[in-house]
Amino acid sequence: MQRSQARDQADNQHSARHPLILAPGLLRLLPPVTIRGMQDLVDIGANLGHDSFDADREAVLARARDAGVSRLIITGTSVADSRRAVQIAASSPGDLFATAGVHPHHASDCDDAAIEALRTLLGQPPVVAVGECGLDYYRNFSPVSAQRDAFARQLELAAESRSPVFLHRRDAHRDFLEILGPMRPKLTGGVAHCFTGGPAELRDYLDLDLYIGITGWVCDERRGAALQAALPLIPIDRLLLETDAPYLLPRSLRPRPKTRRNEPGWLPHIAQTVAALRDEPVEVVAAAATANALRLFGLREPH
Ligand SMILES: [Zn+2]
Repeated sequence: MQRSQARDQADNQHSARHPLILAPGLLRLLPPVTIRGMQDLVDIGANLGHDSFDADREAVLARARDAGVSRLIITGTSVADSRRAVQIAASSPGDLFATAGVHPHHASDCDDAAIEALRTLLGQPPVVAVGECGLDYYRNFSPVSAQRDAFARQLELAAESRSPVFLHRRDAHRDFLEILGPMRPKLTGGVAHCFTGGPAELRDYLDLDLYIGITGWVCDERRGAALQAALPLIPIDRLLLETDAPYLLPRSLRPRPKTRRNEPGWLPHIAQTVAALRDEPVEVVAAAATANALRLFGLREPH
């Protein structure tokens, strides 16, 4: 997930059409990150292979465990990055998992050899999903035709390997539905990762029986209004929590972290924000999100 000023503007325009259901400033009143009764959370999307974690990855993981994040799925965004994710995940079997896929930014690299490499990775124990894969027309780092092709091929791979899909989409909603819709009956399941849309987009995804991944975007008073309006509409058995670390540091963290790098250890703060917006006890939201992650990705119970 990458952000930009233009997206800010688009979201601001969007939020103007949606009523703010959260009074500005309210999120700041939420208690700090250590949250009673919250343990055994699953961060379903952390880019732990990112080089910003190279110096202190172990400490980051220790902080996550201390915060109650007992399991974590490391996002793969290219063949090399997926291999790296698998390598990191293999260091802590049963706690760390990985996805294997080619992000739409890298779609031009998604050739036969890449698909074959992903197929091999999918046979390795830590790998629980194909992805992230999808469409990103905002930046178009790869041509649209390459993105559509790479997306379709990875959906085929997911169907063939009976793996769920970890889906990324930005500014390509119609094409995304056009490609995913016909394939959906062949897939075991999937998550719309880093969902930032409003109620209408949510309905499209729920119609495809997708899980909905919620990041710290929801903690953003300026950009998160559409998402905040959609949150109470997500069936609790479709809700997943993710940090997308090191991206998307929750804006409502207090005290503000010294660095802008996001970490899996902030996941309880996201869970608490989601619970507040849904007017549900945080323990209920946390337990449901964990059960959903176990179900979708087939994660083992902790040992
Ligand atoms: Zn993404």
